[in-house]
Amino acid sequence: MSEPSGCPCESLDERNKNARGSIKTKTGKTAKSKAVTGKGGTGEGTTVSSACYQNGSTSDVRTAHNSQKALANEDHGLEPGQEADKRKTGESNLCEGSEHKHDTPYNQKSAHTEARLLDGLGKGGFPTSGTLTLKIDWRPNGKEGASSPMPCRSCHKILCAAKECGVDVFLCDKKNEKKKLTDCPASKDSKDSKECYDNLEKKMHSTKPVWGA
Ligand SMILES: [Zn+2]
Repeated sequence: MSEPSGCPCESLDERNKNARGSIKTKTGKTAKSKAVTGKGGTGEGTTVSSACYQNGSTSDVRTAHNSQKALANEDHGLEPGQEADKRKTGESNLCEGSEHKHDTPYNQKSAHTEARLLDGLGKGGFPTSGTLTLKIDWRPNGKEGASSPMPCRSCHKILCAAKECGVDVFLCDKKNEKKKLTDCPASKDSKDSKECYDNLEKKMHSTKPVWGA
């Protein structure tokens, strides 16, 4: 799967929208499960994200849904992420030497879209150079119609771990501007981590493009 050079946020956004659309209207019927389509079919309570990895002329583009039920139809082409047996133990597919492990509960956290996308990318060996761009469309529970481009704190950790592997990570904000992830480390027990997450949040919601240091 190749896309125009540079992994534009717009095309990742488009993939997310298409994925949501195709899940909804597969074979002309609306998917029944609320876990897939969200409350009232609005996507509320679900996340769909796309990632584009690029290194030279090679690019790899994937799209994931957080719900296991969304994977039932193979022709959606959604990224399942880690192998089922490894998901039980929290093992991730990041580069050799990475100490990243998914948070508990393992099955739940490794199902997050960002985790699925990175574990999928890492199946053939996680890259140690190049750039990775993600467009996250998280539609939080209880916030009708709202969409956030932010990773959760667990996924912030896996994105920082990817950066540690040597990959430049960019997140697309709501205006589809790329923001470089410089806000690391992210570890569960560290106070710095909360600060990093807060900084990232500010950066993602700023109106001006911020390319990071
Ligand atoms: Zn997450």
